[in-house]
Amino acid sequence: MKKRVLYWLQNDLRLIDNVILSDLATFQGELDLVFVVEPRWFKQSNYQLKPYGEQKYRFLLESLHALADALEAIGQTLHVITGEPEAVISQRLKQYAISKLVCTEQVGYYEQKQLSKISELCPDVIIKTYQQDTLFTERDLPFQLHNLPKNFTAFRKKVESEPTFVAASLEAVSQLPHPVQLCPENVLPESSAQSGSFCGGLIAAQQHCNDYFSSKAPSSYKETRNELDGFSNSTKFSVWLASGTISVKQLYHEVAKYEQENGANESTYWIKFELLWREYFKWHAKLFGAKLFRFKGQKESPPLHTFNSHRFLAWCQGRTPFPLVNAIMNELNSTGYISNRARQIAASCLVNEFAVDWRYGAAYFEQQLIDYDVAANWGNWQYIAGVGVDPRGGRHFHINKQTALYDPTGCYVRKWDGERQITPSIDNTDVVDWPI
Ligand SMILES: Cc1cc2nc3c(=O)[nH]c(=O)nc-3n(C[C@H](O)[C@H](O)[C@H](O)COP(=O)(O)OP(=O)(O)OC[C@H]3O[C@@H](n4cnc5c(N)ncnc54)[C@H](O)[C@@H]3O)c2cc1C
Repeated sequence: MKKRVLYWLQNDLRLIDNVILSDLATFQGELDLVFVVEPRWFKQSNYQLKPYGEQKYRFLLESLHALADALEAIGQTLHVITGEPEAVISQRLKQYAISKLVCTEQVGYYEQKQLSKISELCPDVIIKTYQQDTLFTERDLPFQLHNLPKNFTAFRKKVESEPTFVAASLEAVSQLPHPVQLCPENVLPESSAQSGSFCGGLIAAQQHCNDYFSSKAPSSYKETRNELDGFSNSTKFSVWLASGTISVKQLYHEVAKYEQENGANESTYWIKFELLWREYFKWHAKLFGAKLFRFKGQKESPPLHTFNSHRFLAWCQGRTPFPLVNAIMNELNSTGYISNRARQIAASCLVNEFAVDWRYGAAYFEQQLIDYDVAANWGNWQYIAGVGVDPRGGRHFHINKQTALYDPTGCYVRKWDGERQITPSIDNTDVVDWPI
């Protein structure tokens, strides 16, 4: 019988610079390509929230359809199956006598546990993971992971002073081994007819990459990146990076190419600087494991915050006493994306103005953001809540000051309806206890 390999796709939904597919291109056997949709993604769990909201799921489906089409064009099939990965992947490995499982290494604690469980259930299967969601591999880091610098600046200085190797971006694979002969089993649901502000998938990702780097936007990134709104004010790559429809290494090399052709300046450097933030949070998540989700984070004692359902709900629904925060949450709820500045203001408001347990906010962002990334989301929330890797111990963004700086004409608040009044039908308890 032919040898069989199962590739479990997760946040690597691409053909260009996919190290696993490139490795498998010459494999003389059969290849099973699988993506698992987990039922728990659509059920309320921790913090009474679902891991997948509407926009986030729409974006995922678009990404899966684009990948399925691209694979079909080269004679392969993407199987989208539903279930708990531990159960359905293990069952599939056994049922089809597959001897090897490959996947991209996940830095998230729970994702790592899933793989360990599969390994326990299928002790005879060889498991190989690839570090391809980061700029560097762990081996190329200029320190051992347990010596990860305690803050971003120290990390950045270290990798910049001992220039760390970013592997070349690989061409798209043009052929793959045949699929494992299986009964037809493809439950990839139709993409929603409703389109969003961003289109998911590997084609949209490459299109955006071409558009962005053929514009002059990278040369003014540093001056515009802090704006609340505006498509070209920041790169918007997060939405495709999170699903891995584009690779971070490809992006890094695209910046370098742009610099060669158009000249390097502080702005082009700053895109790489921000990609290093992403990198730092990835390694931080891997090192800190379950502590990423702890109320007290990296600290000895937890913040003096609690859970208040009225304040939390009003924050989620954009009906707080702060028009700017309402506008931000309205944008998040309708598009699944908000700028970095908006994320900081909304997060700071929940933590500092409303004294709500930061993990509820992080879980809400997890549900709503189409670019949700476990390391960046929970790492940034910890940072703002003062229980993470911030040497200053938390960030307070004063809302009036932020409004004056970033929305002086009220244009953003009007666009996203931030002045909408709290409706009279809402219980009074919603509004009586605002700590302002
Ligand atoms: C509370 C909070 C939650 C966040 N949750 C997420 C999340 O779930 N997923 C996510 O990708 N980013 C998250 N971020 C980081 C950041 O806000 C987004 O990466 C950024 O706004 C995405 O837009 P962009 O691609 O245009 O960013 P750009 O400004 O163009 O930056 C380029 C790239 O650098 C990386 N980057 C930039 N800032 C950060 C940062 N602070 N932390 C980590 N990476 C960064 C991203 O990959 C981004 O695509 C969060 C920030 C905050 C404050």
